[in-house]
Amino acid sequence: MIATDETVTPMTLEWQQMRKTFHQSTTLAALVLAGWQMGMWLARAFVEYELNQRAQQPEQWGHCCECGTRLHSKGYASRRMLTLVGWVEWRRRVGRCPNRCGGSQVVPLDEELGLAPYQQTSMELMRLGCLLAVFLPFGLAVHLLEQLSGVSVSDAAVWQWVQHFGGQQMAQVQVEVNDWQQGSKPQVEVMDEDVATLPLLIGADGVTVPFRPHPKSNKGKIIYQEIKVALLTRLGNRLKRTGEQVTQLVQRRLVAVRGTVNDLQPLLEVEAHRQELTKAKQVVWISDGARGFWRLFERCFAAIAIGILDFYHATEHLYAAAEAYGSTVKNRTPQQWVIRLRHQLRHGYVHHILNEFAALLRYASTPDAAKPKLRQVRNYLKIHQQHLQYRQFKKLGLPIGSGMVESACKWLITQRFKGAGMRWSEPGFDHLLHLRVAWVNQRFDELFADHPLSPTLYSPNQ
Ligand SMILES: [Zn+2]
Repeated sequence: MIATDETVTPMTLEWQQMRKTFHQSTTLAALVLAGWQMGMWLARAFVEYELNQRAQQPEQWGHCCECGTRLHSKGYASRRMLTLVGWVEWRRRVGRCPNRCGGSQVVPLDEELGLAPYQQTSMELMRLGCLLAVFLPFGLAVHLLEQLSGVSVSDAAVWQWVQHFGGQQMAQVQVEVNDWQQGSKPQVEVMDEDVATLPLLIGADGVTVPFRPHPKSNKGKIIYQEIKVALLTRLGNRLKRTGEQVTQLVQRRLVAVRGTVNDLQPLLEVEAHRQELTKAKQVVWISDGARGFWRLFERCFAAIAIGILDFYHATEHLYAAAEAYGSTVKNRTPQQWVIRLRHQLRHGYVHHILNEFAALLRYASTPDAAKPKLRQVRNYLKIHQQHLQYRQFKKLGLPIGSGMVESACKWLITQRFKGAGMRWSEPGFDHLLHLRVAWVNQRFDELFADHPLSPTLYSPNQ
């Protein structure tokens, strides 16, 4: 080990200076930081040494892609790249067709290392930058990247990484949607059999995000655009210490798009297929009253799923009816009436409410002013009658509120995209959204490499 150390770490001034700083450190914190810097310095030196070693290996030159002649070495050229351990530079062979065909230049070592021609930053560093930007505004992401790794990059660099990898993910999603629309099925996600058979809950909601009126400038009136978000999750059970059973969301996946319910539909269908909707012992749809989502439900899931209208949303309609009617009648406050209606709704007596409303609409004693609202609410309840069977839903252990969909929206959209003063460009938003969705769906790392890229700590005494 020491021999290797000496081979790669000649006693340079830099190294001696670091050792000096290390020995002069008094506090533990200073000692650790100085030691860490030496570790990084060594890591960088090892990587550089190894790259230059590999570049010495004899090369098997292939043939020109244009004319088929065997390629020749043009000699060595250097390459420099920013990595998690700092700037690394090495010299490697570059080959070209002796006939000087255009596009015949090859760098076998770069290809082996998984490097693209104009890449300036190593993958593990770009992944870390993108990961931070998934959660934080770009300026803050850059600051924390420097605090955590010591590597300093510009806001624009991290922004570009997000555009690149987010764009890649977006294209991938588009391919899946096109394949789906042409009849081929996406690959299903591997999950345990006892997870696959749990009830699958699907819910959707919308939220608006502020956009710039002009792509390049923050000036002018903000344009709000609708973002549609859908949640797909298995409903598991967890036993609390008190012995109480609580619902636990398992295999939680999100789907989101800037656009309409129609734009959301194919994405949701693809994800539902990937989550093996057919294996779930029950499929449940939950959403608030928005008509578009219920049309989507009718088109895609009504044949197999139980539809649940968010309970709190349904009671809002009862309040509206009670207000219109109750305030016209003496000796009965709207509050009293609505408490009873709510109770009836909660315990599965929608038909009683419908009958009561029908009777009120027939009675001459009912004030005319209240009738339009009563009629409207009655129609609404009638359309959704099957989605208001809350007693039955509770008995089946299903949720009656769409709170979990709303919190998914809050996390996915509000927290990152609606910060003070934020205005998005369409591509800027779309790319970051796709990275955030990939992260929550546990598909983030595969965007960067087919092997794990999280830095790990070497701690023998663990
Ligand atoms: Zn050639």
